[in-house]
Amino acid sequence: MTSPEPSSWTYTVSVRSLCEFTAKRGDLDRRFTPSATSLEGQAGQMAVIARRSPGYETELPLQGQHGHLRVRGRADGFEADVNRLEEIKTIRGPVEIIPENRRALHWAQLETYGALIAADRGLAELELALVYVDADTQHETVLRETVAAPALQAAFEARCRAFEAWAAQEAGHRAARDEALAQLPFPLGELRPGQRLLAEAVYRATAHGRCLLAQAPTGIGKTLGTLYPLLRAMPSRQLDKIGYMTCKGTGRIMALDALQALREATPGRHLRVLTLVAKEQACEHPTLACHGDACPLARGFYDRLPAAREEAVRTAWLDPSAQRRIALQHGICPYYLGQELLRWADVVVGDVHHAFDPHGQLFNLAQAQDWRLALLVDEAHNLVDRARAMYSATLSLQSVRDTLPQAPKPMRPALRRLARELATLAGAQPAAYQAFAEVPEALADALQLVNAALGEHMQNHPLENGPLMQFYFETLSLQRVLDKFGEHSLCDLERGPATARAAAPAEPRAALPVNLSLLDDDPDHAEDTGPALPDGTDVLLSIRNIVPGAFLRQRFEGLHSATLFSATLGPADYQRDLLGLPEDTAWIDVPAPFPPEHLSVRVADRLSTRYEHREASLDALVAVLARQFEEHPGNYLAFFSSFDYLDKAAARLARRHPSVPQWSQSRAMGEAARRAFLDRFVPDGRGIGFAVLGGAFAEGVDLPGTRLIGAFIATLGLPPVSPLQEQVRERLDAMFGADHGYADLVPGLQKVVQAAGRVLRSVDDRGWVWLLDRRYRRPEVRALLPAWWQL
Ligand code: SF4
Repeated sequence: MTSPEPSSWTYTVSVRSLCEFTAKRGDLDRRFTPSATSLEGQAGQMAVIARRSPGYETELPLQGQHGHLRVRGRADGFEADVNRLEEIKTIRGPVEIIPENRRALHWAQLETYGALIAADRGLAELELALVYVDADTQHETVLRETVAAPALQAAFEARCRAFEAWAAQEAGHRAARDEALAQLPFPLGELRPGQRLLAEAVYRATAHGRCLLAQAPTGIGKTLGTLYPLLRAMPSRQLDKIGYMTCKGTGRIMALDALQALREATPGRHLRVLTLVAKEQACEHPTLACHGDACPLARGFYDRLPAAREEAVRTAWLDPSAQRRIALQHGICPYYLGQELLRWADVVVGDVHHAFDPHGQLFNLAQAQDWRLALLVDEAHNLVDRARAMYSATLSLQSVRDTLPQAPKPMRPALRRLARELATLAGAQPAAYQAFAEVPEALADALQLVNAALGEHMQNHPLENGPLMQFYFETLSLQRVLDKFGEHSLCDLERGPATARAAAPAEPRAALPVNLSLLDDDPDHAEDTGPALPDGTDVLLSIRNIVPGAFLRQRFEGLHSATLFSATLGPADYQRDLLGLPEDTAWIDVPAPFPPEHLSVRVADRLSTRYEHREASLDALVAVLARQFEEHPGNYLAFFSSFDYLDKAAARLARRHPSVPQWSQSRAMGEAARRAFLDRFVPDGRGIGFAVLGGAFAEGVDLPGTRLIGAFIATLGLPPVSPLQEQVRERLDAMFGADHGYADLVPGLQKVVQAAGRVLRSVDDRGWVWLLDRRYRRPEVRALLPAWWQL
């Protein structure tokens, strides 16, 4: 794409990108308008093509050159007989609701293709036809214009000129960046031994375009040890972008610190680093809607974007405060400025959902732009659970019934029918929890009807943005996972106490077309929403993803490489199987930098913390805590599998051994309370902090030296026994084999090892880990604990 020689550089740009850059003007408008899915888009295109003459040419590859710019793309269709070039857009709703600036963009694309084909075929003039095809009816609305070739060429050249200065700057930046990265020195002088092993593995995996699972202990410098080799590989592998994805906010801070150091070590500081944050964090007007009629920062967004973009690329270090400063200076929205800057950043730091969620902007843009993208995923042991949540959805009966009075009359029969199906199914099930092998057909039909009714309403009321819209997001989200229901998912209904409604997902999808007249089939139930439930009871329908690999497999294939790293990642097969990583994914287990004798790992051989033994073993358990504390006074963390267990153990310790100072994590701890909990771990302090395994203090907490000298871990971290857990276990056993422990032992022991990892934070630290259950002696349990632990 680029050359370091200023006189010989060439920049290749797609027709779409060229037009977006040069022709997008006016307001930002993110109001929800039902849009066609990509499948509907293809169907619409096929319908149009089927109506054209046999000689109709489709998907025409076209390209042209202007100065240093090479412009290329594929035109939708050309009918040589009538000399007509067509751009086909599948839409939902009337053509009139397409915003003016989007229509202008469509014309710009069509004109650009027109210039390319006219030059290619020596045409004197051309009929341009913008074909809007309705996704439901496949009716065409065609806007036509005949344009002479010189006019098309002039518009094309003007567009190229408008982009060329930017392209020159980008080509220069890329060349300078790659040259600087090729000689990037390690910012801390020497790589540490474990860090070097990790860095070499990342470099090798990137060089071969493979994925890597890297289990690397705390204290070796994983953040720099992964970023540095990837940046060094960037020029030779011609990477367009690096994504550093985190599962928790703390990882982002460490990544930015490391990137700051690397950037300072880069000659000329040629590295643009962008931090992506959630919309709620960046929005300046949370009560307003994202369009020019409501939000002042959306008004004229695309008119002011070019100047803001120029300032942003000059600034290069684009953390949230820099994005906010630049955006407000230019009077535009900081959040959407960040989205635009994705195109021009070299390194993007964001949450894993930006890469793995179906709406993840980083991955989706990379696919659309054909970027070579390499990812680093920090604290990757969380990815299975995070990804499961991205491909799962729920809907409560209460939310359907709450929506009814707010819904317009024509929509109510569909809502009632859905409520009825939910209530009837839940009322008929013998137990509170019921799993289904397939989504019950009547329920699936009812959901589809609701989405059709809501979709039709939203088409006619595109400006609406209230609770009905939120509810639509929920039902669309459910529809999306229902459409992809398979071996990787579970469907269940649960009767239980009513709770607050879950937040709706950020981005909606369009509904499927359904015949609403079907609703008239049920006149006897016109006002019926199904059997009443006892007060305070609700029904929750869930479609849960259990194996996210079913969705992520394609994502990993679309990346140049991905390195997933964590202190507790193994076993490798668990990650490969559940995340859908490619067969050739490499694995490295970096040895701990600590001498094994620095950590005394003890097993309470006579203790059982099984649920049925917990009450009886409480005295023995707190005796272990008190004896350790007495023999080695200092600060300890004691981890329990639930708040209930934690409370009982803390109360028993207070009763039996009142002289041991203690403090506890509580159920709803705010930021200040969390800080106060950790502040009690002062150097050379004394006491035991009670915390929940897998909770806020079990990972990402750094208490070096004598701030923490030991940890007690009760239970094996197994998920509580429940009908749902039983379903998950059965499904994973059926898919991967019963002896792997994928449903319980593996995730449970990951939590244990994470919690134990709080104790040694540097090579000079020494400490104790007490494993409070005799099952830790079992070989299958021992096999999943770090090999260097001396039990
Ligand atoms: S400031 Fe908030 S409301 Fe305005 S466009 Fe940005 S995200 Fe939307």
